[in-house]
Amino acid sequence: MPEGPEIRRVADRLAEVLVDRTVERVRFGLPRLKPEEALLSGQRVLEVEPRGKALLTHFENGLSLYSHNQLYGVWRICPAGRPPNLTRSLRVALETRDRWALLYSASDIEVLEEHELDQHPFLARIGPDVLAADTTPARIRRRLRDSRFAGRSLGALLLDQTFVAGLGNYLRSEILFFSGLRPEQRPRDLDEDEVALLARQIREVTRRSYRTGGLTELPEEVREAKRLGEPRRSHRHAVFGRSGKPCRRCGARIRRSEVGTRRLYLCPLCQPLRRPS
Ligand SMILES: [Zn+2]
Repeated sequence: MPEGPEIRRVADRLAEVLVDRTVERVRFGLPRLKPEEALLSGQRVLEVEPRGKALLTHFENGLSLYSHNQLYGVWRICPAGRPPNLTRSLRVALETRDRWALLYSASDIEVLEEHELDQHPFLARIGPDVLAADTTPARIRRRLRDSRFAGRSLGALLLDQTFVAGLGNYLRSEILFFSGLRPEQRPRDLDEDEVALLARQIREVTRRSYRTGGLTELPEEVREAKRLGEPRRSHRHAVFGRSGKPCRRCGARIRRSEVGTRRLYLCPLCQPLRRPS
């Protein structure tokens, strides 16, 4: 499933062709949404906002299009009248004069009024979006110390969208590596410096991935790994997907395990079970 950085890049691409433009025609593929077409057609788009793994397209009349791609949904942008030849089912078409934004295969789609946003079952439950400007390290640190989250293992917490929305499996491994922490540890086991570092890395690693198109490894390490001929799937991350390969910091072999049914990678030396004091 795409994670926060990927969703935000999709939102950026949609915003480029939709924001401040009038959507002359809206078409929905799902019969239950047909009556909403007339409400959105002819409206101007104000903003395309990612919230965790969901997207909100806000229209000037106060209505918002909510979409969550789950595993299968995919957005495509094309010149007006020239949709791509896909075998997927078209679920949403937002048609401006010169561009169409098309959502395929997703089924989690709704049209919401402003007051319904906060009561929406997914939106009401999720924590602050990890890439939102007001999700500061201080705010993340407070959540790590919050009694709702402090007793959870980091391996579970970092995938829990109610803690911080937008993190997923590759980010979990990478954030733990850059924080020097293990998935079994809990926020309550960490001292102030460790919590501060973790809060900073939750934001930093995710932002790096957003800026670079999916790279979480540090730029200088990526350059060196490329020079040594590491393929992209291996050089884009510090530990994720690199089991058996040497850690770029210490040379130890990266290990793979299952944490909460999903794969997790770590360096046994950079992420010691007990940290030296
Ligand atoms: Zn290491």
